[in-house]
Amino acid sequence: MSNKIEELSNYLKNLENIEVINNFSDLKRLSRDFYNYSPILEKKLNQCIADIVVRPKNVSVLISVVKKCWELSIPLTLRGGGTGNYGQAVPLNKGVVMQMNYFNKVEEISTDTGFVKVQSGCLMGDLNNELAKRGRELRLLPSTWRTATIGGFISGGSGGIGSVKWGFLRDPGNLIGLEAITMEKEPRNIKFDAEESEPLNHAYGTNGIITSLLLSTDIKRDWYSIVVNCKEFQTAIQVMKICSGAAIELKLGTILEEAIVDQMPLWFKGGNIFHKVIFQTTLGGSKTIQSICKKYNLDFHNLGKDSDLDNGLSDVVWNHTTLQMRAKDKNWTYLQMLLPLDKELNLINSIREEFGKKVLWHLEAVSQAGVPRLAALPVLKWTNENELNQIIDACKSLGAFIFNPHSITVEGGGLGVIDADQVKAKLEYDPKGLLNPGKLEGWEVKENFRN
Ligand SMILES: Cc1cc2nc3c(=O)[nH]c(=O)nc-3n(C[C@H](O)[C@H](O)[C@H](O)COP(=O)(O)OP(=O)(O)OC[C@H]3O[C@@H](n4cnc5c(N)ncnc54)[C@H](O)[C@@H]3O)c2cc1C
Repeated sequence: MSNKIEELSNYLKNLENIEVINNFSDLKRLSRDFYNYSPILEKKLNQCIADIVVRPKNVSVLISVVKKCWELSIPLTLRGGGTGNYGQAVPLNKGVVMQMNYFNKVEEISTDTGFVKVQSGCLMGDLNNELAKRGRELRLLPSTWRTATIGGFISGGSGGIGSVKWGFLRDPGNLIGLEAITMEKEPRNIKFDAEESEPLNHAYGTNGIITSLLLSTDIKRDWYSIVVNCKEFQTAIQVMKICSGAAIELKLGTILEEAIVDQMPLWFKGGNIFHKVIFQTTLGGSKTIQSICKKYNLDFHNLGKDSDLDNGLSDVVWNHTTLQMRAKDKNWTYLQMLLPLDKELNLINSIREEFGKKVLWHLEAVSQAGVPRLAALPVLKWTNENELNQIIDACKSLGAFIFNPHSITVEGGGLGVIDADQVKAKLEYDPKGLLNPGKLEGWEVKENFRN
């Protein structure tokens, strides 16, 4: 143990309202997330283990830890539920991992605006249960909603169930404000409005410690789970496009090709394996989908109200599809992309021609700046990095926009470009660069962004 860590460790012993964890097996467990979905990240991150994990129980003790980390220049990495896929919560340079699980209160639900003010460590499932009591629900949920925190979703997630209607977390109107503690000699507790929050939204906790969030919510509805069997992949895409453009309420729209369906749990795949189109919609919406399916002579199943099902569809969509594939064979990995508008099938057929069954297609209907689009999370049979890059390049050349889940940086996993506002926010709220170091590429060229 270095002298600095020993000093921090002794300091923590005298603090109250904080859990301190320093046994090796817990340190290892709490320094990992689901980066092992990427063989590239697995190699890079397996040895990154925190020196100490802390779980503060209030803002005052959180600030005491921040002050000490500042004084000793010790890196600090935030952790929610640890369900990220890009190694977002992995402490690259060791130091402290701070888990926010005690910040779990739903502070206020406004019946006028539908906004909810919630502490960042609240589990999304718990938050949704509280909202349901007031006739509201979260607009967007990752398929990990049971174990992910709302702070981790805003800082590390992008969208998911609900994206077919509400787009992505960074779309204006989803995040209304937040409160965060800065990493400074005298840490500040700052309230940010919607616009000021933007640089901290999806920044992997590199430019502030979010303690609470103000979010828009939706009216709670009874969502019905619909599964449609399709012999032709082309028809699956056509039906998805018609339904996602129809005048109905949708929470989810997913397409799984038959080779993926074949690997899914029995309760979902049933006896005969077809491509499957999945929807969550209202009872009214299900009638419209049924009549569209009738026109195409497709096999339509209404599984019933999602809340009444033993197995919810969230277990087989978004990145849970990859989880199910990996449960059968750890050599499956994945990609994330936005498919080119109206050239989706062209891209899929070209990739099939070049790479065959090494790439299997899983599509998600999303709204991109208000326009219905198809995103894809294809699963890939891993061979080597060279082939992965060939697949990425081929998809790009066919017009796809890649969000690379084999990259550890905010930029690599996102739009691929440095966001000046994120770097400026880090200069202002984390001037020593102690928060989750190594995750913001723009920090390497920070001098370009000083005013
Ligand atoms: C099977 C599977 C399915 C998934 N499906 C989806 C999906 O549908 N959509 C999606 O977007 N993602 C998905 N993910 C990724 C992940 O589950 C989500 O992004 C999730 O919301 C992360 O929440 P978490 O609490 O686990 O965050 P963590 O993994 O703990 O942290 C994520 C990032 O946020 C930072 N952070 C955490 N708390 C704070 C805080 N209080 N202040 C500042 N920074 C903070 C961390 O440092 C880290 O960089 C999936 C992952 C898996 C393994």
